[in-house]
Amino acid sequence: MVDDSGLQALREAARLSPDNLPLRRHLADLLLDKGYLAEAEREYRAALLLAPRDPGITAGLAEAFARQGAYGAALSALEPFLAQPGYPPRMGVIAARALLDEGDVAQAGFRYHEAVMRAPEAADPELAARLAAPVPPRVSQPVEEPFGKRAEEPAEPYDQRVTFADVAGMEGVKEALRVKLLLPVQQPELFAAFGKRAGGGVLLYGPPGGGKTHLARAAAGELGASFVSVGLSDVLDMYVGQSERNLHNIFDAARRSRPCVLFFDEVDALAARRSDMRQAHNRQIVNQFLAELDGVDDKANEGVLVLAATNAPWYIDVAFRRPGRFDQLVFVPPPDLAARAAILRILCRDKPLAEMDFDAVAKATTDYVGADLKGLVDRAVEDKLRESIAAGRPVPLTTRDLLALTKSQRPSSVREWLATARNYVMHANDSGAWDELLPWVNRTW
Ligand code: ADP
Repeated sequence: MVDDSGLQALREAARLSPDNLPLRRHLADLLLDKGYLAEAEREYRAALLLAPRDPGITAGLAEAFARQGAYGAALSALEPFLAQPGYPPRMGVIAARALLDEGDVAQAGFRYHEAVMRAPEAADPELAARLAAPVPPRVSQPVEEPFGKRAEEPAEPYDQRVTFADVAGMEGVKEALRVKLLLPVQQPELFAAFGKRAGGGVLLYGPPGGGKTHLARAAAGELGASFVSVGLSDVLDMYVGQSERNLHNIFDAARRSRPCVLFFDEVDALAARRSDMRQAHNRQIVNQFLAELDGVDDKANEGVLVLAATNAPWYIDVAFRRPGRFDQLVFVPPPDLAARAAILRILCRDKPLAEMDFDAVAKATTDYVGADLKGLVDRAVEDKLRESIAAGRPVPLTTRDLLALTKSQRPSSVREWLATARNYVMHANDSGAWDELLPWVNRTW
């Protein structure tokens, strides 16, 4: 260890060669080590001017800040790194210390565990004790799940499987999903030949009830993959830091049950534009989501196909659309005449039926989406059941039954949805992201 006279010599050398980065870095590290914190801070700042965004120097500066009680400054210095996957574990430990001293125990615990899981040598028993945390788990140990039930049984029972045969119409959407999700898994050599790698997610968007969840489930069935559907309540937690942890555990559980389709419903709430967010911890959820999508390395998410659905794609942070993340946007349109007839046919297929004119019902249900049609059929079936019980024999469903119900059942909000979409297409489509919507929003009904 350098004594104070050795330190003095280093100071002098750095003064004479102010652009010598290794020298300045070495001096700064020594100053920090010996507890000359203010001077270490100055040296790290000077070194950062020579090497902006150097992770080692930034970590040193953050530690100098934290040990002087400037926790906010420490966290600000670390923030750009912590938002990226695979940041140096040392940074996670420094952040944990600063967060703990700021009183944010949950977030501190999350950072600490995440860092130590990746680099057990970064463990700091004293900090762990202060966090009142159990001994950090080893990487090979299973991580505790936030949703025990789902984690233990990620795959759906086989007879509940739906496939693309159960999705009526939507040929364009099915084709897009085949190319993006299914072919890379079914024919990897073909994709490799073109230098393309499987991975990256698909964001399904369109009016509510349009069949996005149904499609995602069918894509999993088509692949023979397990289907894990994640709703907001599976992720969001009132305790700061716990939501990020939940997200991490959800991805981990999916990675353990590959091949797997991991489906996020209402994803706009988890992936909203960070600029729209008031609360820093909401931004942390977005950052955690991005980090999980990227994975710690190329292989982390292999066999995990991430699908997400939203009715409000315009609220999603553009960072989600980068390659390897939700790099494909797929519009799930309201069903046209032929698609409505086909959906009705599927919905009625195992019911007692008279001769049916599905085209006539399709014509009478112009603004209906899949969920509306399902509601219509469900109501008609209930009525028929009552009739059948009274008659003591099965009374088949007729075209007229369905047509009669269309008079009283209003469709959900497709028109309102298209009016909102029109605003974005007309006034916020510089990147061309919403081009696919153009023919729809200009349509006269
Ligand atoms: P979203 O996720 O877009 O809100 P859902 O996938 O929940 O909509 O759709 C509601 C229901 O409508 C589904 O459970 C399914 O029964 C039916 N449905 C929607 N689209 C189709 C379709 N193309 N083919 C068959 N059924 C459909």
